[in-house]
This record gives sequence, C-alpha cells and structure tokens, in this order.
Amino acid sequence: MGEEHTMRVFQGLGVSPGVAVGRALCLETRSEDVFRLPLAEEEVPAELDRFRQATRRAQQEILKVRDKVHRQLGEELGQIFDAHALFLDDPVFLERIERRIREEQVNAEWAVFRTVEEMEKQFAAIQDDYLRQRMEDLRDVAHQILGSLQGIAHHDLSEINGEVVVVADELTPSYALRLGRERVIAFVIESGGRTSHTTIIARSLNIPCIIGIPGLRTNITDDDSLVVDGETGQVVVNPTLELLAAVHERRVQLAERERAALATCGLEACTADGVVVPLMANIDLPEELEVALRYGAAGVGLYRSEFLYIERSPQLPTEEEHYQLYRRLVETVRPHPAIIRTYDLGGRKLARELLDTREENPVLGLRGIRLTLARPDVFQTQFRALFRAAAHGDLWVMAPLVSSLDEVRQLRAFAGAVADDLEREGVPFRRDLKLGIMIEVPSAALIADHLAREVDFFSIGTNDLIQYSLAVDRNNEHVADLYQPLHPALLRLLKLVVDGASRAGIPVSVCGEMAGDPAYAALLVGLGLRRLSMGPRAIPAIKTTLREIDSRKLAEVAERCLTLGTAVEVEALVAAALPSLASVLEA
Ligand code: PEP
Ligand code: MG
Repeated sequence: MGEEHTMRVFQGLGVSPGVAVGRALCLETRSEDVFRLPLAEEEVPAELDRFRQATRRAQQEILKVRDKVHRQLGEELGQIFDAHALFLDDPVFLERIERRIREEQVNAEWAVFRTVEEMEKQFAAIQDDYLRQRMEDLRDVAHQILGSLQGIAHHDLSEINGEVVVVADELTPSYALRLGRERVIAFVIESGGRTSHTTIIARSLNIPCIIGIPGLRTNITDDDSLVVDGETGQVVVNPTLELLAAVHERRVQLAERERAALATCGLEACTADGVVVPLMANIDLPEELEVALRYGAAGVGLYRSEFLYIERSPQLPTEEEHYQLYRRLVETVRPHPAIIRTYDLGGRKLARELLDTREENPVLGLRGIRLTLARPDVFQTQFRALFRAAAHGDLWVMAPLVSSLDEVRQLRAFAGAVADDLEREGVPFRRDLKLGIMIEVPSAALIADHLAREVDFFSIGTNDLIQYSLAVDRNNEHVADLYQPLHPALLRLLKLVVDGASRAGIPVSVCGEMAGDPAYAALLVGLGLRRLSMGPRAIPAIKTTLREIDSRKLAEVAERCLTLGTAVEVEALVAAALPSLASVLEA
C-alpha cells in the first residue's frame, strides 16, 4: 500500500467542536499580494504574451464553469458567467491592461490590479444598481486573471457534491458562510486565529473547525478521506476501520455531553454565593436564535448585524429586511433584551460596496462606527429599522469600535434626527431605546468614565481589545502566542471600564470570546462583571463553572492578578487559587 493510503494524523488547534468524516476538498483562496515589478524594455513582449495566455486560460475556466452551472442550475445563473466571459472578450478592457504593461513597463499582475482599481473608482462614482453589479463582475474577472497569472486554480463552488471537508489556506468570513451553507461538514484552515471572524462563523454554523496546520494541503489530495475533530484539533487522513469505529464512539459521547448540557438550561446563572450573572447569547446568523433559547440564554447580548449585509452582498438590505429580522429577535427573546450592534463592516469583514478606496491597513482604517458615520445613508436605513423594531420588545443598540466621545455625540445626534423623521412621518417606533457602545479600543477603555456619562451601557469586545492593546493581529497564526487574554495590561483596562460603568450606574457586559471560556469568565466575574455574552453553546459550561465558585473568592483572586506583571504569572495564580479551573487553563 502506498504512503498516500496509509493513515496519517495532523495536529492543529480545534476552534469549533464536533466530529466530521468526509472527503477532502482543497481550496486555495489566499490571493497573493500584488507587487509592482519593473521590466526591462526587452522583457515587455514576453510579459504581454504571458498576460494573453493567462486571459485565455481564465476564459476557458469561466466557460467551463458557465456550462456546468447552466446545465445544473439553469440559464439565469449561467448568465453571470457570460458576463464574466464578456469582459475577457472586450478588446478595450484588454488593451487598457496591455497598454499599461507596454507604457509603464510593469508586470501583468500590477497592470491588472491598477487598471481594475482605476475602473472601480469610475464605477463607484455612479449610483446605479446595474453598474454596481458589473463592478462585482469586474472584480471576479480580475481575481480570475490574477489567479491564472499566479498559477492558482480557483475553485468552483457548484462542483461541491457529497459531504466534504474544506481544507483551505485561508478563508474569509463571507466565503466560510457561503461554503458552510453548501454541503461542507468541516473546515480545516492552515492559517488563522482562535478569535478570527471565520472561526466565529464556523461555531455559529455548528461546523467543526481546525486552524493552524501550515502546509496541510501539500500532504493530502482532493478526495482523501478525512476525520476532523474540532475539539482535539486532530485531522486524520485515510482513517483505518478501527479509527472509524472510535469516531462513532466519540460521537455517542458528544451527544451524551450535549444532553447533559441541555439539562442545565433551567438552572439559574449565578455564583455559589448567589450573585446572579445573566448569560446571554452572541448571534451571527438568525438560525442561531433557536439554539440560544434551547441553551437557556438570557437574551441576545450581541447580534452582529453586519452578517445580514454580508449574506445579501452586493445588495444592501432594505429597511424592511432589517426591521423584520430585528423584530423577530426582540419578540423571540422577550422579556430579555436583544442587543443589536450596528454594522461592524470594514477591517476584514469586507465592505467593498461601501468603501470606494482600498486601504493599506484596513484593521486600523474605516471600520465599525467610523464607516457607519461616513455613510449616513446606510446608517439611516439601519437606524430607522432599529427604532421601529424597538416598539416590539426590549431592544438595545450599540455601536462598534468607538474610540472617542466625539463619535458618541455624533451617534446620539444622528439617532435623534432619525427618530424625529419617524415621528414626523407618523411611523410607529420607540424613541427611548438604550443606546450603548462597545469598548474594544484601548482609548475608549481609558476614558470609560467620560463615555459612561453619555451612553446607556457598555459591552466589552475583548477580541478586538486584546488585538489593539497588545498590537497582535487576531487573525495571524504567527503571533498567536502573543494573543494573551490574561495579559495584565488587558486586565487593567477591563477594571477601568467596570469602574467607569459602575460610577455612572450603567450596565456593562463582555461579549468577546473570553466570556465563553470557563476560566476567563470566572476571572471576569472576579473583576466585577455581572453580565456575559457568548456563543450559545458555551452557556452550559460557563453556568456550571460559576455555580461552583464563590464570587468573593473570585474578587480576591482578580485583585491579586491586577498586581502582577505577566500573563504567565496571572495564569499560575488563578490555577493555584482556583484548582477547579486549572485543567481548563491548561487545555
Ligand atoms: C470583539 O471584538 O470582542 C467582538 C465581540 O466583536 P467582533 O468579534 O465581532 O469584532
Ligand atoms: Mg470587535
């Protein structure tokens, strides 16, 4: 038997639990950075030739996909690819790129990239749905040509059949969402971080996911049989019959654990000495609402509304679509509150339709509330729907990535003007909804006392607060060990926020991934937090942990942690003072 059929085991980091058995589908999705390479005059003809070959190859690819989609899914969808093929037949478009190669004497990748960027700017100035759609086509075509130039095969989603495990170098949240709704039963991603939005989406879709196995795709081929355990982080290639039997056993165990978890639903979420800590649910997709209720969530602590947009993209959701969804959220969780976050687009959650420029460093760019305030038209549609839905339940609204008081004041003024409009129009709505902000930028944590006087509540986003305070990209596996939730700098920031909120008498919660980890959640309660929000499936474990520990003990441990200088010391102190958390900290 050749090496390719023997069983092999790869170890990664399990970030979304569950066990899946399926065949591999390897995807290359990371488009290489495009660099400008100057050419000598005599190199230009060969470069033109390379460009023509690449466009021919891209053309053939597109036509192949078009025929398949046409056959399997019908004429209408097939036409999308006709539109793509047309671009590659358009002599004006192709000549524009060739001229740049000739005149600027640059590599074809750079010429494609710059030409498309230039055309995007021209398209962006025109407000027309049809042209906006063409801009999308143009981007797809550019991606295809660049892929072809770089020798990357782009994958055709329509080919997915049977139950597959997607193995990719990198996945954007929107791609993960599209794939997760096809017949994809697990993700294995070579790169990534535990709190990246893609892994959050995998958890929302309840699909096992493993990250951090660099080069895995060079060790397997499409159709290899894989077992993926999203908890242990193990990927087994070509499992033996014995291993498959063990997988069956493991699934039985997991189902048993699920039943035990559900049994905690009716118990109160409180510490051993009776301090109540409501546990709310973070929701990215509407279908998670039902799961949240099943797991006993005390309302929705974070609805990431940008996923409504990401699902509809390139179309923007209408006011009615926003309204119907928010209304469903508040009505379903009544009498508990539903906290809806305004769009947190930008950064890695692409917002190409809203941004008309490319950013060098989008994570520090026009993201969250900055983008929303820059696009009042889009913000207004969302706010009208939020005010209208607030008439049906306890709806709280919060804005992401706030970094200054000015933004809060602009937000309030804007919300007030939207409410005035609704009143003038005689539309039913509720004006006095709670308006809060996320604390996820260090500047906001440092002026929490000021902010607390001008907003109705805080919700701390530790995923970003860690990223921005420790200068560690939450998506980057190369600095994953520096992403330390127990870093004393973070604990001090959290303390400032809790104190600021308590002095102003406003509620404060944590909705970052830290809240869904038993050891971290216990420490958060020790720091004074009395409301936590997490992926719904984490609720039972957090409830069980908190019910076994005295809040006074937690407060004492947290106070000592605040005097320490390193994350390692904090971890050692927590493990020694609270032995029941030691094993969770090690995991
Ligand atoms: C956070 O930053 O902790 C948060 C909850 O927001 P998101 O993960 O969507 O950035
Ligand atoms: Mg955030």
